[in-house]
Amino acid sequence: SFRGAERLARIAPSPSTAAAARVRELKAAGRRIFDLTVGEPDFDTPDHVKEAAIAAIRRGETKYTPVNGTPRLREAIRGSLLRTHGIEYSDSEITVGGGGKQVIFLALMATVDAGDEVLIPAPYWVSYPDMVRANDGRPVILPTSADAGYKLTADELEAAITDRTTWLILNSPGNPSGAVYTAEDLSALAEVLRRHPAVSVLSDEIYSEISFTGAPAPSLASVAPDLRHRVLVVSGVSKSFAMTGWRLGYAAGDPSLVGAINTLQSQTSSCPSSISQAAAAAALEGPQDFIAETVPVYRERRDVAVAGLAAIDGLRPIAPDGAFYVYVDCAGLIGKTTADGRTLESDQDVTLHLLEHAGVAVIQGSGYGQSPFFRISFATDTGTITAALAAIGAAVGDLR
Ligand code: PLP
Repeated sequence: SFRGAERLARIAPSPSTAAAARVRELKAAGRRIFDLTVGEPDFDTPDHVKEAAIAAIRRGETKYTPVNGTPRLREAIRGSLLRTHGIEYSDSEITVGGGGKQVIFLALMATVDAGDEVLIPAPYWVSYPDMVRANDGRPVILPTSADAGYKLTADELEAAITDRTTWLILNSPGNPSGAVYTAEDLSALAEVLRRHPAVSVLSDEIYSEISFTGAPAPSLASVAPDLRHRVLVVSGVSKSFAMTGWRLGYAAGDPSLVGAINTLQSQTSSCPSSISQAAAAAALEGPQDFIAETVPVYRERRDVAVAGLAAIDGLRPIAPDGAFYVYVDCAGLIGKTTADGRTLESDQDVTLHLLEHAGVAVIQGSGYGQSPFFRISFATDTGTITAALAAIGAAVGDLR
């Protein structure tokens, strides 16, 4: 067996991947499982996007592209950011990668030295702390409160910044909380950031268009244009266009940072798939009705899920303003006992109870840095959501 590098010992595989493996196992054993763990849209990629990919293959666009993406895709991204952010980015401020995930990893790799601190408000997307650790940095977890809508406040930010702080990671709409930072929230954070010019902001906006507030989630880059060069906007087509498997994400930020990301990309993947780039360009520059059609569907499911969860004694769902998850406070179940005599001591126990007794797969909050909670995904049909909630209600009702 091989000897792993030190950095390997600092990180773990994603808990969502582990949950998916458990669901597959139970299903293979013949159990009917309602799967509420999925982090991807249940919709199919829009037809015009698929057609664009097929056309690209037929035209022979099957070779390496420039490291920072095809000129057409970069142009489409600039157009999209102008539409959504009102910001005119130059070509040298844009890069593309194999998913937002890869772009975030490369951005950290390009900027984080040993011991540098990266501020991560909790609950957080599972990958941030491990990505920071993998790059020798120190994740600094900042718990948020229900009172603040699970968003980082200006005072909390101010108190957390040290002379080692390199990044603040902001994710709005947030996975798993669905919290959306308003323009006012972002202005307050911007005030603090102006006093700390060495801190940059990684603004993960992958869910920005899946917003239930009536408008896309605002971006720090638009709210505080004077900070624009310290904000790396990361987004992609995975969630908004149901294109998770195409692996295409992008970022917009200062040319020096974008250049560094490009250097790393040139030595790792060279470029994302040429075919996916053609598809993403079609998604970003073509008709946007897919988003207009799917967001109301997500909103309806959100309402069903939140109402159903709130009606279960012991559970307190956070109503999300965006993305497709509900983060559920299950403190009311801790200390209760199952019919077979086991006491629920953690959200991991709650999650196992729901899997075994309700046949419902959810992900425990410990993976997201805030417990005791669990996350459900409503990127699945309403029938499944309703049936899963009934099963959760029954399994919770059996607790003593
Ligand atoms: N950021 C957040 C908050 C996510 O939830 C995800 C996907 O789960 C990503 C980034 C990465 O998406 P992708 O790499 O598919 O662009």
